[in-house]
Amino acid sequence: MFFYSNNNDNGNRRLLLFIVIAIIAVSRICLYIGDNKTADNNDTETESSAADSVNVSINTSYFNNSNLSYPMGSAEELSGDVAVVSVFASTPDYSWDFSDSEDCRTREDTLKYMDIASEWIEKNAVEWNQDVNFIYDWKKCEYLYYEADLSENVLISRHNYGGDEVGRYIDSNIPSISQIKNKLDCDEVVYIIYYNTDDKFTDVSNTSVYYDGCNYPYEYVSLYCNNNYCEEPPAVYAHEILHAFGAPDLYTADEYGNNYGTTDELVDYIKNNLDNEIMYTTYDRVTGECHYSSITNDLTEITAYYIGWTDRSAIAEKFGMQSSSHSG
Ligand SMILES: [Zn+2]
Repeated sequence: MFFYSNNNDNGNRRLLLFIVIAIIAVSRICLYIGDNKTADNNDTETESSAADSVNVSINTSYFNNSNLSYPMGSAEELSGDVAVVSVFASTPDYSWDFSDSEDCRTREDTLKYMDIASEWIEKNAVEWNQDVNFIYDWKKCEYLYYEADLSENVLISRHNYGGDEVGRYIDSNIPSISQIKNKLDCDEVVYIIYYNTDDKFTDVSNTSVYYDGCNYPYEYVSLYCNNNYCEEPPAVYAHEILHAFGAPDLYTADEYGNNYGTTDELVDYIKNNLDNEIMYTTYDRVTGECHYSSITNDLTEITAYYIGWTDRSAIAEKFGMQSSSHSG
């Protein structure tokens, strides 16, 4: 279970509401399908021609009242044009060096996997009569590319420090949400913070979503490019982006009160009936492998409901889950 919550009754609840970032996790479900997966990565090494670090003017117009400006966060509705801002973040333990061919290859992979993930979400949107278009290719738009130096805290204590540090970085170094929306003529903004972690890194990618009390309105994926002996596949990118728009994890009961009230019964139901649902697993249902050239998972009615693509979910109702944040 990878949720981190502000639900704490030990007297520090009010404080925690302000310092704990509600992190929706995670993508890896080794628990269900076994460990020791080997990344099926046969990509050829390519030297990147990627954009240089982008210099932008510091904008602080939302610094003091960001919550009022974006009461639902930067990623509200999964419809229309969605900008994805890429931040390649260095920490003391895991830095990026784009004079190094391996780091360039890893960065190229992120674009490739975003391409697969965005196309997969867009295709699913059509089936729910939605029109979604991701704008993510930073080679075509400097507004979408940043390099950041962050402290180690963002990795070792993400729910106490990382959220604020990432939020502070975005607030001080990236054009404001409204500037991005105006510049790109887009409707929503999601941030992906890429960490150049190695395959021995044991944490898993996760998404920080806005809730009342957050210091910053930015909703962002912390993408650990490698962990647990394999590279994060495109399905993880899609899984995490869906989190940013409200999708809960379906492989775990709601231990901390921030997963829409999922229960063990719900998880059993999903396991027995929808075991290829992307919020349940990001692995291949049959082989248990990660895929790097496609996404073979499904986006089913329960996830469609929680990301606002449909008004109701029979499964959510059957198991007494909380209403979608898109309801009403
Ligand atoms: Zn998750």
